[in-house]
Amino acid sequence: MTELAFLVDPAAAYVRMFRGRVTALPPGGVVLDRTFFYPTGGGQPNDRGTLGPPGEEPAEVVDVTKSGASVVHRIRGPPNVLRRFSVGAEVEGTLDWDRRYRHMRLHTGQHLLSARIFARTGLRTRKAQLAGSAATLDLEGSLPSGVLPLLAMDLAEALAHPHPVTLRHVPRAEWDRNPFAARSGLVPLPAQVDPVRVVEIEASDVCPCGGTHLRSTREIGRVNLRPPVPTNGGDRVGFSLEEPSLPTPPE
Ligand SMILES: [Zn+2]
Repeated sequence: MTELAFLVDPAAAYVRMFRGRVTALPPGGVVLDRTFFYPTGGGQPNDRGTLGPPGEEPAEVVDVTKSGASVVHRIRGPPNVLRRFSVGAEVEGTLDWDRRYRHMRLHTGQHLLSARIFARTGLRTRKAQLAGSAATLDLEGSLPSGVLPLLAMDLAEALAHPHPVTLRHVPRAEWDRNPFAARSGLVPLPAQVDPVRVVEIEASDVCPCGGTHLRSTREIGRVNLRPPVPTNGGDRVGFSLEEPSLPTPPE
């Protein structure tokens, strides 16, 4: 079992370097007792980076996936580097921060856009996907004509007046008794999720989510909305980051 250490609190999403212990070595992969590498899921792509014994040449982490309760880090490197991994040994992981931070900005921007679309039109987001420096949202219906400029205005306004992003862990029974009614997302919560990790953008959105988010919408930066494209069942809207690489501001 791997502890998903990036989930614990908002600061944990900003950890770029960590140590963990090797618990298993499946072919081509490494399982740790804890990790800050995000495994592909929920529309957010996996992290990349490096992994290896502290102070030694690391292997490249090329993919990260969930396998049951474990996280498998797929590694690549010269044979002498790959041979250095052994069960029980401590290793140091370093995230490709440029990539991860871009995902955090896209992911938080997606929550914000989903909330604004819901507030304007009542349409919920069925699915979201992040890739490169852009995000897409599949809506449950078609956007009314003329609403796109209003959404662009909403987003610009929200980004000009940033809001904090907070996190709380709510027992499942409590969430089921009193779910946030005005959810902008339609993705059902799997039965085994307990507690529910609730991500809130102040004054905008409350959403159960296991992704990595920013501390504040301030860090999203400028975005460009893309015109909606019809897909099966509803419109797909998207946005891209105007500046894909931005420095991470201090806390
Ligand atoms: Zn999220």
